Amino acid sequence: MGRVCISGAGPAGMTLGLLLARKGHDVHILESMKDFHREFRGEVLMPLFSQMMNEVGLLEKILSADHLKLQDVQIFNEGKALSNIRFEEICKEFPFAIWMPQPILLQTLYDEAKQYPNFKLSFSSSIESLTRQPSHLQIDIKRGIEKETIEADLVVGAEGRWSHLRKITNMELEFESYGFDIVWFELPRPADHPRSVQGFFSKEGNFLIAPKYPDLLQCGLLMPKDAFAKMMKSGISSMKEKLIHSHSAFKNFAESLEDFSHFHVLQAKIAFAKKWAEDRVVLIGDAAHTMSPIGAIGVSIATGTAIVAADIMDAAFASNDLSDEMLSKIQKIREQDVRRIQNFQLQAERTIQTGATWRRHIFIRLLPLLVKMGIIQRLMKSIMTLRSGWKVDSR
Ligand SMILES: Cc1cc2nc3c(=O)[nH]c(=O)nc-3n(C[C@H](O)[C@H](O)[C@H](O)COP(=O)(O)OP(=O)(O)OC[C@H]3O[C@@H](n4cnc5c(N)ncnc54)[C@H](O)[C@@H]3O)c2cc1C
Repeated sequence: MGRVCISGAGPAGMTLGLLLARKGHDVHILESMKDFHREFRGEVLMPLFSQMMNEVGLLEKILSADHLKLQDVQIFNEGKALSNIRFEEICKEFPFAIWMPQPILLQTLYDEAKQYPNFKLSFSSSIESLTRQPSHLQIDIKRGIEKETIEADLVVGAEGRWSHLRKITNMELEFESYGFDIVWFELPRPADHPRSVQGFFSKEGNFLIAPKYPDLLQCGLLMPKDAFAKMMKSGISSMKEKLIHSHSAFKNFAESLEDFSHFHVLQAKIAFAKKWAEDRVVLIGDAAHTMSPIGAIGVSIATGTAIVAADIMDAAFASNDLSDEMLSKIQKIREQDVRRIQNFQLQAERTIQTGATWRRHIFIRLLPLLVKMGIIQRLMKSIMTLRSGWKVDSR
């Protein structure tokens, strides 16, 4: 049995920790935040997530926690309905996307994991430094003002796109792209609002609206990088005007605004680490392959890598082989899929970005026809559902 220290208790870190603990390995997860509370990230979970969690026997538990099920994606152009894509056309087995606040998802995984005495999670804790000894890794941990040193056989960076472990071990990025910002805000949800993810193209800018658990709407404005900072400098009236012209549902909210405190800005980044395993340090999830919000697929991809990592690490401990060759199998198995989806995100980013011109016009003109012909559904199926050939052995 092995000893694994995982830095980061996001979807990737928690999934890997739970699966390794279930296989009997000693797991210690370090999370820099004081709890699971976080918002506006990774809350829509595509059918791919349900399929994978079903395969590792965790879906039933996850669906027993509070969530909403979303039935379709609706696209509008200048306020007019353009297309409607139902999840049942994409995945018969799980014909829905799940809206689950991340704290609920992470707590559910934690509740499952903590039944194993070999599983431990420490909040407000992070790795300060790492020393590689021939027989083990020595990890210096910072917990508030306290310091502690632990030993592990493997250390995993699951700290998301700003990974500290990636930085201190000099694991380089092959590329990084920062396309746009999403500016989030919330509204009360009218009782008759559809259970749909809605995407709007408009001259005022592109935006999203989706039901948020329990009774809210989450709205996101797609803005070119730095545009929100410029808007803050010019004052709240320009934001009010933008919102009022974007959608009638924003009117009351816009009129009540006095400052920018209701908005949360997140950068949409895409990145890829050259090597995901080096001398007993392994990167998974956004630390290895940062996904943009496009397609709401990042959590599924992160947990997919975590599931593969659990199997490879288990095999590595069983054969007493923690070599780079063994651990780089995680990247070998996952790389093609991750690159395919990142390429899709980069292309989609160029098409939907505010200010993009001919690509977006062509897309909007062709979309209804592409949906009618089933081409968009096939594309979404290839991105948002499990591919044949996926083999996991994580029970
Ligand atoms: C605006 C936005 C919206 C998105 N919406 C969706 C969506 O709806 N659906 C979807 O599937 N994906 C979405 N994504 C992508 C998704 O959020 C990520 O792909 C996914 O969260 C990656 O999971 P992870 O576990 O690898 O990393 P993270 O979720 O980033 O988790 C990393 C964890 O590590 C912790 N941490 C960070 N630094 C340290 C440290 N030094 N020491 C210890 N712990 C540390 C963090 O606190 C966090 O808990 C969105 C992304 C963005 C930017």
